[in-house]
Amino acid sequence: MKYPKPLSDLSHELSLLPGIGPKLALRLAFFISQRGEEKNLSLIEALRNLKNIKKCSQCNALSENDPCEICSDPSRNSEILCVVSDVRDLWKIESTKSYSGRYFVLNSLIIPLEGIDPEKAGMTKLFTLISTKKPKEIIIAFDFSIEGQTTSLYIKERLSTQRDQLGYMPQLTRLAIGLSMGDNLNNTDEFTISQAILHRQKM
Ligand SMILES: [Zn+2]
Repeated sequence: MKYPKPLSDLSHELSLLPGIGPKLALRLAFFISQRGEEKNLSLIEALRNLKNIKKCSQCNALSENDPCEICSDPSRNSEILCVVSDVRDLWKIESTKSYSGRYFVLNSLIIPLEGIDPEKAGMTKLFTLISTKKPKEIIIAFDFSIEGQTTSLYIKERLSTQRDQLGYMPQLTRLAIGLSMGDNLNNTDEFTISQAILHRQKM
């Protein structure tokens, strides 16, 4: 069976998205094709507007502005820097309203098996930020996974070895209670995350 080309083109594009197999892609493409031009125009508009998203040159967060709203907000506490490995974790922490410091978003956790070394993970930019802004406390807010542990340990060790270069040693803390090994921050409820921030522990 050959589908009309516009339908199979859309179906193909959708099937490239994570978690969407060919069957679901076809179902969605069919649904979209049937729901009327007005709704589809707003979908097209929404997709087009995605190009307005920028990466903040200071913290790497995604925002319509550079620097982002958090980096350009003078009321945020510059003495605390929260390091996350995914911008969705930043949004999740922000939604708890339990944190008023600043952030840095890594490109990724360090995953040697996938060739993601500290450089690719974004450590150079993180350490440049630390040496210029000199936050008193750095909160490590990674998923509780092997990669999360590896990356935390890397930051801890690099801070100790570069102590003289940095001219100081920030206090390193990590998220606390409520999170267990294997937990994905983005899927954790807001109460647990806000408790984990409030009760963060020294590393
Ligand atoms: Zn920013």
